[in-house]
Amino acid sequence: TLSDRLAATFKSLRGKGRLSEEDIDATCREIRIALLEADVALAAVRPFIAAVKQRAMGSEVSQALNPAQQVVKIVNEELVGILGGQTRRLRFAKQPPTVIMLAGLQGAGKTTLAGKLGRWLKSQGHAPVLVAADLQRPNAVTQLQVVGERAGVPVYAPEPGNGVGDPVAVAKSSIEFAKSKMHDVVVIDTAGRLGIDEELMRQAADIRDAVGPQEILFVLDAMIGQDAVTTAQAFLDGVGFDGVVLTKLDGDARGGAALSVAQLTGRQVMFASNGEKLEDFDVFHPDRMASRILGMGDMLTLIEQAEKAFDAEQAEEMARKLMGGDGFTLDDFLAQMEQIRKMGSLSKIMGMLPGMGEMKQQLAQVDDREIDRVQAMIRSMTPQERRDPKILNGSRRARIAKGSGVHVSAVNNLLERFAEAQKMMKSMGRGGMPSLPGMPGF
Ligand code: GDP
Ligand code: MG
Repeated sequence: TLSDRLAATFKSLRGKGRLSEEDIDATCREIRIALLEADVALAAVRPFIAAVKQRAMGSEVSQALNPAQQVVKIVNEELVGILGGQTRRLRFAKQPPTVIMLAGLQGAGKTTLAGKLGRWLKSQGHAPVLVAADLQRPNAVTQLQVVGERAGVPVYAPEPGNGVGDPVAVAKSSIEFAKSKMHDVVVIDTAGRLGIDEELMRQAADIRDAVGPQEILFVLDAMIGQDAVTTAQAFLDGVGFDGVVLTKLDGDARGGAALSVAQLTGRQVMFASNGEKLEDFDVFHPDRMASRILGMGDMLTLIEQAEKAFDAEQAEEMARKLMGGDGFTLDDFLAQMEQIRKMGSLSKIMGMLPGMGEMKQQLAQVDDREIDRVQAMIRSMTPQERRDPKILNGSRRARIAKGSGVHVSAVNNLLERFAEAQKMMKSMGRGGMPSLPGMPGF
């Protein structure tokens, strides 16, 4: 597996400073193979790997993770990011009905999806109607009616007077129908062809122009692998779409299509279909898809555990420092701050220390830019200055201010706050509870 190959790549490596370029290249080679094996299009793999490499080159060696794990973590984060981070929600019209149009090749799963979407919308408190605008195949209307019945959602189908044989007319009149019957969402099922077809695209574009959908969802069979990109591009050019629904994820496809389409069209997968039954449907989860594409859920779990363990260790060490009182230096101050940034907020750290739970409420969220400034200032100090800030006279302060791009008053302010923190450490060390936790001024 990829995990094994990566472990082998990094047999001997440990280090300080930055990740080395060779290590990163070696990992990226393995990641590249894994992505191609997952059917991610080559055109999508290249920019993806380039982004990962750039980020990895800039990052410092983590103390919690080995270099392979660290690069994999970056790969995973980038992957989740491109796949959409948090899944985008459906856009609803200010004036109902909201119109959702489904487009995609024949057999992609549009009609099935109409039922699933209808059922899901209904469960969310909407009153959807499904519209049979696929008049290409003789039994397409009946198929949607069966699906609608199973989903408990009404189906609007062509009848004499509303456009028999004319999908554009059916789609258009369905909007009036929805208004009159108080349906707030209209899901339009359209025809597909086996391949990309100009006439089909024109018909879909005509339906689009007739109904002005809030969302055009491109329905994509995850099993078509490498072809996903050309198909998606053709639909993007021919009809345009706002989001993607990936179907047949119950098969053995690794889901590379999700990355290819997101990377190359900038449109995100919003829903995932994983079976023929109406319940086999969910909003898309980028994190789950990322680990499916990488095929290394176990490694990601390991990474998470390693980081948690490391954070706990750091917190314990900090607790010892807090309780010890003496010897709290600017280095410790900086280390605390880095820890805080890594963990998100001071309140979390305090939560990890025994007996500090109640103090969490008192703690404000830490400002990231503030931490950047403090970091820059402390990093501009010599080791001696960090250990013994008393030697920081006017000219030293001016040098530090210049070196970190801040005004001298910011350096003065930092030193005042540090002195307060130090005092507080001492009072905690003597067992008294301070009125404020160890990090005043944030
Ligand atoms: P359409 O031509 O795009 O409307 O596609 P259909 O909805 O008619 O689906 C084509 C075939 O794929 C049908 O046999 C469906 O039961 C099947 N199908 C649709 N979605 C899925 C899915 O998520 N998983 C599996 N295994 N089959 C699916
Ligand atoms: Mg169909």
